[in-house]
Amino acid sequence: MKRLLLIITTLALALFSVSAFAAGGVVKGPNEIAPDRYVYYPGTEVLDKDEVRVIACGTGMPDQRRGQASACFVFEFGNGEKMIFDIGSGSMRNINSLMIPAEYLTKVFISHLHTDHWADLNALWAGGWTAGRPVPLEVWGPSGQTPEMGTAYAIDGFMRAFNWDYQTRAFKITPGPGSITVHEFDYKAVNEIIYDKNGIVVRSIPAIHAGDGPVSFIIEYAGMKLVFGGDSSPNKWFVKHAKGANFVIHEAFATPEFFAKDYGMPPQLAWRACCEFHTSGPSFGKIMSEINPRHAVAYHTMEEAHQELLLRIRSTYDGPLSIAMDMMVWNITKDGVKERMAVSPDRASGVPGPTRQPPPEKGRPNPMSDFIKEGEWGPGFNAQNEMLDEHAEKYKLQEQDWRKAKPWYQPSK
Ligand SMILES: [Zn+2]
Ligand SMILES: [Zn+2]
Repeated sequence: MKRLLLIITTLALALFSVSAFAAGGVVKGPNEIAPDRYVYYPGTEVLDKDEVRVIACGTGMPDQRRGQASACFVFEFGNGEKMIFDIGSGSMRNINSLMIPAEYLTKVFISHLHTDHWADLNALWAGGWTAGRPVPLEVWGPSGQTPEMGTAYAIDGFMRAFNWDYQTRAFKITPGPGSITVHEFDYKAVNEIIYDKNGIVVRSIPAIHAGDGPVSFIIEYAGMKLVFGGDSSPNKWFVKHAKGANFVIHEAFATPEFFAKDYGMPPQLAWRACCEFHTSGPSFGKIMSEINPRHAVAYHTMEEAHQELLLRIRSTYDGPLSIAMDMMVWNITKDGVKERMAVSPDRASGVPGPTRQPPPEKGRPNPMSDFIKEGEWGPGFNAQNEMLDEHAEKYKLQEQDWRKAKPWYQPSK
């Protein structure tokens, strides 16, 4: 009986301490606001100076799904800085739902050049441009064994592939926001600083994944250490340099059986994919037990495999843990980590910030030939004159009336 009582007391205490940590307040009356207990509503919370908010904008596999994008984590710092760590396929839809003005989303850190870690750069680049970003993007990424395997080469190729997009938007909108500044750093750098500004330091360590080049990032801010691990199998650099960090994100793959059965992978590939060039649940747990972070985050697994993954991780690790889903949010301070889910609109477009894009560049050659221009059908254009006259009146645009140069223009009376 005594023993039973002890167990009950211990259980009650444990429950109490869990709920006390998760609570975040009570509803103070029948006509009062509920506390931010489970939910983060983007754009409604100002960070403390020494606080970091991390939002998982992609946690899945290369074959992105409607319900789960590929790797992407947005870091928001109490000093106002924002950084995107990986921007995998499909993740831009989640980033946009955070309603952060495009002018604040200019810094992208790429762990490696697999598409599930950087393919939505195109959506940030062109989408942010049309959503009013006034400045270029900046990309930090690793070198490779040869120049053709590095980030600078990839961005150069990106600009070539999207040249038509670039030239047409540069003429119609303004060219500045369409360029990308690349900061390529040595993938072999061990804990060397690749970014140091406004109290934020980012370091790089090598990762082991499919070929030379992949890295993981260590972020230092307000006396805290946060780690974003890109794809990697267990490696000595991570275990050494992520040690004791406040917040550690690392991949954790589903079991080989899951890949063979549910994913349709040939079994010979399934047990290499999870466990040779990626990190499995038991290996993830082993790493976390070794580095003992204040909070560990696993990602890069389909949600339907999470239950099994949790059991596998728990076979080697019993510390604080989240298995990340898209739109999971963590607020990190020296005192601890608070986990919530973001509740955000499906249809948010880029929210404007305070800075206006400059006007089109004077004297820039028009990428449209006379042959195409002469195909403009006047009656179709003139049909909208009343609407455009109202717009010109409202915004005082009479001086800039683009219709005056058109041979078909017939002003309405
Ligand atoms: Zn990869
Ligand atoms: Zn990946």
